[in-house]
Amino acid sequence: MTQQTSFDIMKSRNERQILKVIKEFKQISRADIAEKTGLSPATVTNIVNDLIESKLIKESKRGESKGGRRPVFLKLNGEFTKVVGIEWGIHSIKYAVVNLEGKIEMQGKKSIENLSLGNFLKLTKQITDLIFHNIDPVLVKGIGIGIHGVVDPQKGISKFAPHFHWNNKDVLTKLNKIYDIPITIDNDVRMMARAERWHKKKNFIYINTGRGIGSAVVLNNRLIYGQDFLAGEIGHIIVKEDGPKCSCGNRGCLEAMLARENLIEYADQIFDIKINSWNKLTNIINSKEKNIEQILNYISKYLGIAIVNLINLLNPSEIIIGGDFLDIKDKLKPYLTSFVVENSLNKYEETSPIEFTDYNKIAGAVGAAFSILEKYFYTEEEI
Ligand SMILES: [Zn+2]
Repeated sequence: MTQQTSFDIMKSRNERQILKVIKEFKQISRADIAEKTGLSPATVTNIVNDLIESKLIKESKRGESKGGRRPVFLKLNGEFTKVVGIEWGIHSIKYAVVNLEGKIEMQGKKSIENLSLGNFLKLTKQITDLIFHNIDPVLVKGIGIGIHGVVDPQKGISKFAPHFHWNNKDVLTKLNKIYDIPITIDNDVRMMARAERWHKKKNFIYINTGRGIGSAVVLNNRLIYGQDFLAGEIGHIIVKEDGPKCSCGNRGCLEAMLARENLIEYADQIFDIKINSWNKLTNIINSKEKNIEQILNYISKYLGIAIVNLINLLNPSEIIIGGDFLDIKDKLKPYLTSFVVENSLNKYEETSPIEFTDYNKIAGAVGAAFSILEKYFYTEEEI
């Protein structure tokens, strides 16, 4: 079956609905699908037959009888549908291969020094060659790529990538010359948010920490882009009047306070030794050798101010943090949680407002892969 016909099959809304129910319940009978979707049993039977034929689902074990024959369960078939996700970062390109069930089958990274678009394309080709060496290319149904900076996913353009020194690069056209399967591109943090949305999270803000600080906002299951694709630039929320100068020209932006290098500089002042590296700083924070309260309070206060403002504005169910702060999550979480709970209107009596991603540092690549997989389960209007 060609790539095109495989995507044509997905066009029907009913098919997506059925796949979505199977994804949600992991395994489910035809009768229960009819009940959950409201489709007639005959329609379900027909569509299920098509989906089995196109190898997107398969029959698994039999369920319990509700009087009559024991029903056959259906489940997603990850064997024949794989997607590739890639994150173009400042120091490395990370990649993951994910199957239709959302399972990661391969992952890795390649370091990069020359940040030209040509070099990213060259290294990406090397990565996909390696993947196609291990996985039959016919099974790979698309590639998603997350890119640092401001991205127009519809036109496929990297509008502005400050760390790469790119302006208006037509990335998608170049990728389409190399690959003949569907490609999606988007901002790296929006891709990370897709990794969480896969697990049915619908209202949340994903904050990525590290050399820069960015976020992605998901409300009612939709990613928010804003007028110029700039929504979520949490790094440039001003959290300290007359604070340190930021790369954007303002003073006291969150990024100017808490981006990796700025935090190391602050730590140099409070511990009387030269810290130099993020590893050294995280080792200190994770050990009990020094008085680490001051730095944890500092991070929690300024990150907390930004988070509280977002919570009061958007009322998300949770804030999910990824990136470098994962290295200190056990120490940071109680400090940050108490600052946020104390200062926001929502008291979060039943759930924690602060979570850390389970995808560790591969979230961008996995989420980029999900940007392709989502097309099997959702219509454009739904996401
Ligand atoms: Zn700024």
